[in-house]
Amino acid sequence: MNPCSCGYYPDRNKCNCSIPMVKRYLGKISKPMLDRFDICIEAMNIDFKELQTKSKEESSAKIRERINKAHQIQAERYKDCNIRYNSQLTPKTIKKFCKLESKEQTLLEKAFIKMNLSARAYHRILKVARTIADLDNSEKITVKHLSEAICYRSLDDKYW
Ligand SMILES: [Zn+2]
Repeated sequence: MNPCSCGYYPDRNKCNCSIPMVKRYLGKISKPMLDRFDICIEAMNIDFKELQTKSKEESSAKIRERINKAHQIQAERYKDCNIRYNSQLTPKTIKKFCKLESKEQTLLEKAFIKMNLSARAYHRILKVARTIADLDNSEKITVKHLSEAICYRSLDDKYW
Protein backbone atom coordinates (compact mmCIF):
# COMPACT_ATOMS: atom_id res chain seq x y z
CA MET A 1 0.00 0.00 0.00
CA ASN A 2 1.00 3.63 -0.26
CA PRO A 3 1.85 5.43 2.98
CA CYS A 4 -0.75 8.15 2.24
CA SER A 5 -3.23 9.08 -0.49
CA CYS A 6 -0.65 11.05 -2.52
CA GLY A 7 1.97 8.36 -1.98
CA TYR A 8 4.88 10.52 -0.85
CA TYR A 9 4.58 10.47 2.94
CA PRO A 10 6.93 10.82 4.93
CA ASP A 11 8.68 13.03 2.36
CA ARG A 12 7.17 16.32 3.52
CA ASN A 13 8.64 18.18 0.52
CA LYS A 14 6.41 16.19 -1.81
CA CYS A 15 3.54 14.95 0.37
CA ASN A 16 0.83 17.51 0.93
CA CYS A 17 -1.46 15.35 3.09
CA SER A 18 -2.18 16.56 6.60
CA ILE A 19 -1.18 14.28 9.48
CA PRO A 20 -4.83 13.40 10.28
CA MET A 21 -5.26 12.52 6.57
CA VAL A 22 -2.21 10.26 6.71
CA LYS A 23 -3.50 8.63 9.90
CA ARG A 24 -6.91 8.08 8.35
CA TYR A 25 -5.31 6.56 5.26
CA LEU A 26 -3.08 4.19 7.23
CA GLY A 27 -6.07 3.36 9.43
CA LYS A 28 -7.52 1.41 6.50
CA ILE A 29 -5.29 -1.36 7.83
CA SER A 30 -5.79 -1.66 11.56
CA LYS A 31 -3.05 -2.73 13.96
CA PRO A 32 -4.66 -6.11 14.66
CA MET A 33 -4.87 -6.65 10.90
CA LEU A 34 -1.25 -5.65 10.43
CA ASP A 35 -0.32 -8.08 13.17
CA ARG A 36 -1.41 -10.88 10.87
CA PHE A 37 1.20 -10.14 8.22
CA ASP A 38 4.51 -11.97 8.51
CA ILE A 39 6.59 -9.40 6.70
CA CYS A 40 6.14 -5.66 6.16
CA ILE A 41 8.77 -3.83 4.17
CA GLU A 42 9.10 -0.22 3.19
CA ALA A 43 9.86 0.12 -0.52
CA MET A 44 11.93 3.20 -1.23
CA ASN A 45 11.48 5.35 -4.31
CA ILE A 46 14.06 4.70 -6.99
CA ASP A 47 15.20 7.24 -9.52
CA PHE A 48 15.47 6.89 -13.27
CA LYS A 49 19.22 6.25 -13.23
CA GLU A 50 18.85 3.34 -10.83
CA LEU A 51 16.27 1.77 -13.11
CA GLN A 52 18.70 1.92 -15.99
CA THR A 53 21.81 0.52 -14.32
CA LYS A 54 22.28 -3.17 -14.92
CA SER A 55 22.37 -4.61 -11.43
CA LYS A 56 24.02 -7.88 -10.60
CA GLU A 57 21.18 -9.30 -8.56
CA GLU A 58 20.83 -12.94 -7.66
CA SER A 59 19.02 -14.74 -10.51
CA SER A 60 15.53 -16.19 -10.02
CA ALA A 61 16.95 -19.66 -10.66
CA LYS A 62 19.46 -19.21 -7.85
CA ILE A 63 16.77 -17.91 -5.50
CA ARG A 64 14.56 -20.86 -6.41
CA GLU A 65 17.41 -23.19 -5.53
CA ARG A 66 17.78 -21.59 -2.10
CA ILE A 67 14.06 -21.75 -1.45
CA ASN A 68 13.89 -25.41 -2.45
CA LYS A 69 16.76 -26.14 -0.10
CA ALA A 70 14.98 -24.34 2.75
CA HIS A 71 11.81 -26.35 2.00
CA GLN A 72 13.81 -29.58 2.17
CA ILE A 73 15.28 -28.59 5.53
CA GLN A 74 11.75 -27.90 6.83
CA ALA A 75 10.28 -31.12 5.42
CA GLU A 76 13.03 -33.05 7.17
CA ARG A 77 12.64 -31.16 10.47
CA TYR A 78 8.87 -31.64 10.57
CA LYS A 79 8.63 -35.15 9.17
CA ASP A 80 7.12 -36.47 12.42
CA CYS A 81 4.96 -33.44 13.11
CA ASN A 82 2.35 -33.53 10.40
CA ILE A 83 3.39 -30.14 9.08
CA ARG A 84 5.75 -29.07 6.30
CA TYR A 85 6.57 -25.40 6.73
CA ASN A 86 7.67 -22.97 9.40
CA SER A 87 4.51 -20.98 8.77
CA GLN A 88 2.49 -23.89 10.18
CA LEU A 89 4.19 -23.83 13.57
CA THR A 90 1.96 -23.25 16.59
CA PRO A 91 3.03 -21.44 19.76
CA LYS A 92 3.74 -24.84 21.32
CA THR A 93 5.84 -26.16 18.45
CA ILE A 94 7.60 -22.79 18.11
CA LYS A 95 9.03 -23.41 21.59
CA LYS A 96 10.48 -26.67 20.34
CA PHE A 97 11.80 -25.64 16.94
CA CYS A 98 12.67 -21.98 17.33
CA LYS A 99 14.86 -22.20 20.40
CA LEU A 100 17.00 -19.18 21.09
CA GLU A 101 20.26 -18.93 22.95
CA SER A 102 20.66 -16.27 25.61
CA LYS A 103 22.02 -13.50 23.34
CA GLU A 104 19.11 -13.96 20.93
CA GLN A 105 16.64 -14.28 23.80
CA THR A 106 17.80 -10.93 25.19
CA LEU A 107 17.50 -9.26 21.78
CA LEU A 108 13.95 -10.48 21.29
CA GLU A 109 12.96 -9.51 24.81
CA LYS A 110 14.24 -5.97 24.24
CA ALA A 111 12.39 -5.72 20.92
CA PHE A 112 9.22 -7.08 22.51
CA ILE A 113 9.24 -4.38 25.16
CA LYS A 114 10.48 -1.51 22.98
CA MET A 115 8.13 -2.23 20.08
CA ASN A 116 5.24 -3.12 22.36
CA LEU A 117 4.70 -6.37 20.47
CA SER A 118 1.72 -8.66 20.78
CA ALA A 119 2.05 -12.39 21.42
CA ARG A 120 1.04 -12.90 17.81
CA ALA A 121 3.82 -10.62 16.53
CA TYR A 122 6.31 -12.35 18.84
CA HIS A 123 5.47 -15.75 17.36
CA ARG A 124 5.57 -14.39 13.82
CA ILE A 125 9.04 -12.98 14.36
CA LEU A 126 10.26 -16.37 15.56
CA LYS A 127 8.76 -18.18 12.57
CA VAL A 128 10.24 -15.67 10.12
CA ALA A 129 13.62 -15.88 11.89
CA ARG A 130 13.45 -19.68 11.59
CA THR A 131 12.87 -19.32 7.84
CA ILE A 132 15.70 -16.80 7.43
CA ALA A 133 18.01 -19.23 9.27
CA ASP A 134 16.86 -22.07 7.01
CA LEU A 135 17.56 -19.98 3.91
CA ASP A 136 21.00 -19.38 5.39
CA ASN A 137 21.38 -23.13 5.96
CA SER A 138 21.84 -22.52 9.66
CA GLU A 139 20.53 -24.88 12.32
CA LYS A 140 20.69 -22.12 14.91
CA ILE A 141 18.68 -18.92 14.81
CA THR A 142 21.38 -16.31 15.32
CA VAL A 143 21.26 -12.60 16.13
CA LYS A 144 21.61 -11.87 12.39
CA HIS A 145 18.51 -13.92 11.50
CA LEU A 146 16.49 -12.61 14.40
CA SER A 147 17.42 -8.97 13.73
CA GLU A 148 16.26 -9.30 10.15
CA ALA A 149 12.95 -10.81 11.26
CA ILE A 150 12.47 -7.99 13.78
CA CYS A 151 13.10 -5.43 11.01
CA TYR A 152 10.17 -6.85 9.08
CA ARG A 153 7.95 -5.85 12.01
CA SER A 154 9.29 -2.39 12.59
CA LEU A 155 6.97 -0.60 10.15
CA ASP A 156 4.06 -0.80 12.60
CA ASP A 157 6.17 1.21 14.97
CA LYS A 158 7.07 3.81 12.38
CA TYR A 159 3.68 4.45 10.80
CA TRP A 160 0.88 2.99 12.88
ZN1 LIG B 1 0.72 12.39 1.05
